[in-house]
Amino acid sequence: MRIDVITLFPDLIAQCAAFGVTGRALERSLLSLHAWNPRDYAEGNYRRVDDRPFGGGPGMVMLVDPLRRAIQAAREAAEGPVRVIYMSPQGRRFDQDKARELAGLERVVLLCGRYEGVDERLVQAEVDEELSIGDYVLSGGELAAAVVVDAVARLQDGALNDAESAEQDSFQDGLLDCPHYTRPVEHELGKVPDVLLSGNHAEIAKWRREQSLRRTLERRPELLDEAPLTKADLKLLDA
Ligand code: SAM
Repeated sequence: MRIDVITLFPDLIAQCAAFGVTGRALERSLLSLHAWNPRDYAEGNYRRVDDRPFGGGPGMVMLVDPLRRAIQAAREAAEGPVRVIYMSPQGRRFDQDKARELAGLERVVLLCGRYEGVDERLVQAEVDEELSIGDYVLSGGELAAAVVVDAVARLQDGALNDAESAEQDSFQDGLLDCPHYTRPVEHELGKVPDVLLSGNHAEIAKWRREQSLRRTLERRPELLDEAPLTKADLKLLDA
């Protein structure tokens, strides 16, 4: 998969993606990541990428043309259909379903706004969808884009060392993940639950499922409306 990011701060994206699972996915060429700076496509001595908003008001708005040229350059840099996504607090909320959907695409372009955002005509003409990472306003789309890159990178085949760990993650099966423990067994803060030490895989799986169900019920009950639950799950929830 190839992700192109349109950003005034290419180094920020590169740094965010350089470590851990994302860094490994890049090293293993499971993902390629490229940044395009609209300033490189701006005109004039000052290479201006923003201007004051029509109608007055505070802040600046990103100009159509430098962004449009940068997106075009990204489109032409490789073959294949491209999904152009504007990172925006006004977009649909990014979630694990969307991460899975994007992870299955060949090419994605992530457009990062700054200032008051980008000229609406650019959004109308070039953008396929808008994605938000939450109901708060960031100063720019870069951290939001880095979130998408990370969530999508870990879903690429071979990105995780233990292939199972993505399957067990929260939201993969519609539920929150169960609690995890590691050594030592006994600690002043408590003991590891006996079942996890039993070696009985069926009992361990049952315990983990129950913990997932309970956590989801306590913390995010609305997820249970959509999660594919078995009769046994419903029984555990009733208990
Ligand atoms: N005036 C815009 C509004 O209220 O909708 C906010 C602009 S914000 C200061 C600058 C840029 O940060 C946006 O263009 C967008 O790219 C990015 N951004 C801010 N919050 C975001 C969020 N929650 N999710 C994704 N991108 C966000």
